Parts: sequence; structure tokens; C-alpha cells
Amino acid sequence: MDLYEHQARELFEEHGILVPRAEVTDSPKEARGIARRLGGRVVVKAQVKAGGRGKAGGVKLAADPAAAELTARQILGMDIKGHLVGKVMLAQPVDIESEFYVSYVLDRAAGRFLAIASTEGGMEIEEVAASRPEAVARTHIDPAEGVTSAKAAEIAEAAGLPPQTVDVLMRLWEVLVREDAVLVEVNPLVRTERGRILALDGKVTLDDNARFRQERWGAEGVEHGDALEAAAAAKGLNYVKLDGEVGIIGNGAGLVMSTLDVVAGCGARPANFLDIGGGASARIMADGLSLILSDPAVKSVFVNVFGGITACDAVADGIVQALDEVQLTKPLVVRLDGNNAARGRAILDERAHPLVQQATTMDGAARRAAQLATAA
Ligand code: GDP
Ligand code: MN
Repeated sequence: MDLYEHQARELFEEHGILVPRAEVTDSPKEARGIARRLGGRVVVKAQVKAGGRGKAGGVKLAADPAAAELTARQILGMDIKGHLVGKVMLAQPVDIESEFYVSYVLDRAAGRFLAIASTEGGMEIEEVAASRPEAVARTHIDPAEGVTSAKAAEIAEAAGLPPQTVDVLMRLWEVLVREDAVLVEVNPLVRTERGRILALDGKVTLDDNARFRQERWGAEGVEHGDALEAAAAAKGLNYVKLDGEVGIIGNGAGLVMSTLDVVAGCGARPANFLDIGGGASARIMADGLSLILSDPAVKSVFVNVFGGITACDAVADGIVQALDEVQLTKPLVVRLDGNNAARGRAILDERAHPLVQQATTMDGAARRAAQLATAA
């Protein structure tokens, strides 16, 4: 989950990183009052989860409170790269002497964090990396050691950042660790004409696996890219929307991944990834099934379960219970195999739902589900 700039700013401030004084609002009238409180001249900044707001006209200087109101009115409601501006942040302007770039990002391939730093701040780092790769310094961080003062000095030196940034680099690492972030980026980190180091813009991406202990950001932080994914997240389902027509439910991420491949191999496209996990209770089955049925793109549903610790009869009970709760509107192909498969199949046979059919192999079931989806 990405945070808004004003949320990132709040975190930086809490960890002792200097930031400009600022307030957030969704009302132009309030913007005028805020500008007055902040001393009249303010920078008005669109709060959207997209970079390059400046270039898109979402960051503007206003000379006085009346101008701040006008500018806020212009920016609120703007569309920046497909993001509707619902709030603006008004910040005290800063006299910039130099602009730097710093970020920490999880480098999954290396099993390390990566510090990226540059004296070419204020621009998109991808552009700097492409045009002047020598201006971008990359330093790996051992997650167990973190950013010690020696490490921070190494990062600053590699990029040619002034020594005053060492303290900020250490605090920024604290933000990443304490707030469960997988990315923190400050662009620009600036040195003011009076020699102070300030974070002028911030991006923080939280680790979704830690969302349970980052309740603080609540619904405001969540931008619902996809309504189905949002509904799935609310039910705690491990669901990813795809653009096909065969709904998929399986137990275990590996099995679900190969189910997607097998369905694709049969000439149909999977509509989603949904792993109901090891437990596969009736509750999860019913939630998963109703979610998938609510996707208008879905034409058939393939339930692919390999009974392990959770036996197939328990899964079949779950499906039967789900069928009682959820109005089945699309054909369902079920393949049960593994622990207690025979008993599981018998339970479904007994239920004899007209829209449910069983297959004994994964390939056979995938073919059937694909046929049903393409015929529909
Ligand atoms: P972004 O375009 O989404 O990255 O938005 P930023 O918050 O980074 O703002 C874009 C640019 O506007 C920055 O790189 C700065 O050059 C400039 N800017 C933002 N705030 C101030 C400020 O308070 N004073 C000055 N002089 N420039 C600012
Ligand atoms: Mn920026």
C-alpha cells in the first residue's frame, strides 16, 4: 500500500526528519485559512499517489492566501495520470540551495535493501539513471545490520551527498523499519540556503503483509484500484484479479499458479488467482465463491483442491455449505484429489447440484471449465 505525500511527511516528522510546515484540506476556502496560518506564501500540492505531479501542474506556488484558495480550487478535482485529486497539501515554501535524491527499496533478488542516492534530485530518478548512470549511487544494506552511522556515511559518500545528510539517512532507515515499509523515497531531499536538510517530497510503500499492525492508515490510505480486490481484501482473501473468464479457486499458491497455467493451456483465460489456503473452511469457500461469482467477466468456475492436511471431505462439506449460502449462477467444475478424495466426491454427488460437475483429473477439469467458459 502506498501512502500519500502528507502521510509520508507525517512519518518523516515523527522520526525527526525536518519537513516544511504543512496542512491538508479538500476545501479551497480552508486552503486560504491554512495559507494565512503558514505565513501567506505557500506551495499548493496535489495529494495523489503518482509521481511527476510538478510537471503535471499539481505543484504550484501561491503568493498569498487569496492565491492559495484559487490555486487549491484549480488543483482539486484535477486528473493526474488517472488519479483524481481529492486533497491538497499546503506547505511553507523552502529556499532550495541543492536538491538530492535518496531512497531505500527492498531488493528481493539480492535479499538485501538497496540505498539509491544522487545529487541530481528533483527529477525522476529513472531519467537520471538512464541519462547519467554515474550520478546514481547504489549501496546494498544488510537488513540485519541496517543503516548504521558508518553505512549512512558510505551511502552519502558514494553519491556525493553532503555530510549533514548522514543523520537523515539513518532516520529514514528508522522510518522503513518501524513503519513496515518496503520503499521510502525522498525526492527532493534539499539543502536550504541556511544549510538545513529538509525532506520536500516523500513516498512510502508499506508492506501489505504488515497491514494488520498499520491500522493507523485505515481506509484513507487504501486506494481501491480494483473493487473486487478491495472486497477480497476486506474478507481476508488471497485474491488477484486477472482479465479472463474462468474463475479459479484452489488451495495452496503453487497449485493455484499451475491451475492458471493449465486453464490457459486449454485455450481459456483465468479470471483470477484465489488461494483459499490450507484451512479451506466453508466460510472461506463461500466468501471466495461469492466473490468470484460477482465478477461479471466470469463464465465458469474451476475449484481445484488437493486434499492434504485438510481432507477432501471437509472441502466438499465447505462447498456444499457455500452452495446453500451462495446462489450459484455459473457452472462449477470441481476436482478433488488427495486425502479422502472418494468421500469428498461422494458428498458432492449426493448434493447433486445441477450446475456442479466433477472431474477426476486437473487437466480434465481445466478442459471442461474452459469449454464451459468459451461456450457461454
Ligand atoms: P513531484 O513532481 O510529484 O515529485 O512533486 P515534488 O513535491 O517533488 O515537487 C516538484 C518540484 O517542485 C520539486 O522537485 C521542487 O523543485 C519544487 N518544489 C516543491 N516544493 C518547493 C518549495 O517549497 N520551494 C521550492 N523552491 N521548490 C519547491
Ligand atoms: Mn518529488
